[in-house]
Amino acid sequence: MTKLRVLYATSEAYPLVKTGGLGDVSHALPTALRQLDVDIRILIPGYPQVLEKLSLLEIHEDLELFNYSVRILAGIMPDGLTPVYVIDCPALYQREGGPYQTAAGHDWSDNALRFGLLSKVAALFGDHEFLFKPDVVHCNDWQTGLTAAFLAYSTAPRARTLMSIHNVAYQGTFGAEMVGLLGLPPESFNMLGLEFYGMMSFLKAGLYYSDWISTVSPNYAREIQTPAFGNGLDGLLALRHDQLTGILNGVDINFWNPEADQYIFSPYTKSNLAGKRKNAQALRKKLGLSLAKADRSPTGYKPLLGVVSRLTSQKGLDLFIPIIPEIVNGAEGAQVVILGSGDQELENRLQQLAEMLPGKVSVTFGYNEELAHQIEAAADIFIMPSRFEPCGLNQMYSMRYGTIPIVRRTGGLADTVIDATPENLEQQGLATGFVFEKEDSRELLQTIKRALQAFRDKNTWRKLQQNCMNRDFSWKNSAKQYIALYSKLVQQ
Ligand code: ADP
Repeated sequence: MTKLRVLYATSEAYPLVKTGGLGDVSHALPTALRQLDVDIRILIPGYPQVLEKLSLLEIHEDLELFNYSVRILAGIMPDGLTPVYVIDCPALYQREGGPYQTAAGHDWSDNALRFGLLSKVAALFGDHEFLFKPDVVHCNDWQTGLTAAFLAYSTAPRARTLMSIHNVAYQGTFGAEMVGLLGLPPESFNMLGLEFYGMMSFLKAGLYYSDWISTVSPNYAREIQTPAFGNGLDGLLALRHDQLTGILNGVDINFWNPEADQYIFSPYTKSNLAGKRKNAQALRKKLGLSLAKADRSPTGYKPLLGVVSRLTSQKGLDLFIPIIPEIVNGAEGAQVVILGSGDQELENRLQQLAEMLPGKVSVTFGYNEELAHQIEAAADIFIMPSRFEPCGLNQMYSMRYGTIPIVRRTGGLADTVIDATPENLEQQGLATGFVFEKEDSRELLQTIKRALQAFRDKNTWRKLQQNCMNRDFSWKNSAKQYIALYSKLVQQ
């Protein structure tokens, strides 16, 4: 049997460049698929971060696209496993700042061109005799949405297209004039096409023109077909429900592994959690939290609550912020450690709390991979009160580190965390966290109190930690589901 050939088009991939879960997935999924013998290769824009981290790039193609000189470079990911094609177009990608935004947090004004180019090059792989001829072009989020449109209007034999939604809230909508500037036919600017209320929408293009759609959890696949979660695309998604599959993300179990994590202070295993306590103490020292001995606590210390998150309304931290004083000043005397970046107002409110509650609340702003791992290893409880959550990775990282997640019942959080009700706790290996329903601070507070009560009971806590650490979140199962999907598409 010949190998499946897949081009994985993405706007970020760890460790080259990452702003959120897409970056993690764009590294871990191709890795898992290559281990299962799929010839998958990554396509990514040549931002400075990418060019710096990939040293052995060879030039392969010189092109002229949208009046820009473009070179396609070829290299290999730093782990030596997955080939990667880089779109070198200095005028569009070589600049200080993030992949989508300026350092000051404003979207790049030419994002339609920047990601129109990414989509266009992905489409060229799909219908030209090019460097690599994929059977499937796997597109990810709005930045690659136009690929399916370019290919749908191609007259050459073409690869199949899979459009993966990592977050339907980000859609890439731009002025209608971009349709012509990007070389798409005028008839594509249609309700039955890429038009979205008078604008052009990259994501809608992907959802309308692709051969298949996937998203990152089965529950989110259902939710986005409803007005509450579909951000205006629910109608189209419901129409295409026969070609919409939810496949749960996995996690990179080597990189997120408490037994061998290079970033943490002390490794530990599920049979010996002493190292977890050392991580907590070391992190308290590093961040200036008090050392917080507590007699009634099974760890000997006060409970430590962790957050690692983008600071956007999606993540629901505005539900958590108002109750933090009550939690840290309450009977349990819990401590809170937060790492995040994003919304300025949320940052200001968190900063004020940290100043008001020294030794009890620590906040760090910015993107910090090392600290993210240290928090996962050190915390007893991880808080994710998301309003919506396509899959969510941190709750799975938390479970691997024996850190019990508190989550809202939405999207992938509902698929991955099983509430520690008395009945679920009775069943062998079942309960893994605490789940609440409403977007409501009081309900979150009640749930945190429920978790803190369980924390006091050494046996219950230990059981929860074991249940969490025994769960298999490796990519293998999910990667097999992608292979089945690719195979189905190729046979169509
Ligand atoms: P999303 O993609 O919506 O941000 P996910 O839970 O799917 O949410 O993935 C978030 C990823 O980004 C995780 O790997 C998390 O550890 C990481 N992350 C988020 N914020 C930060 C930060 N400030 N510093 C380091 N890592 C972060």
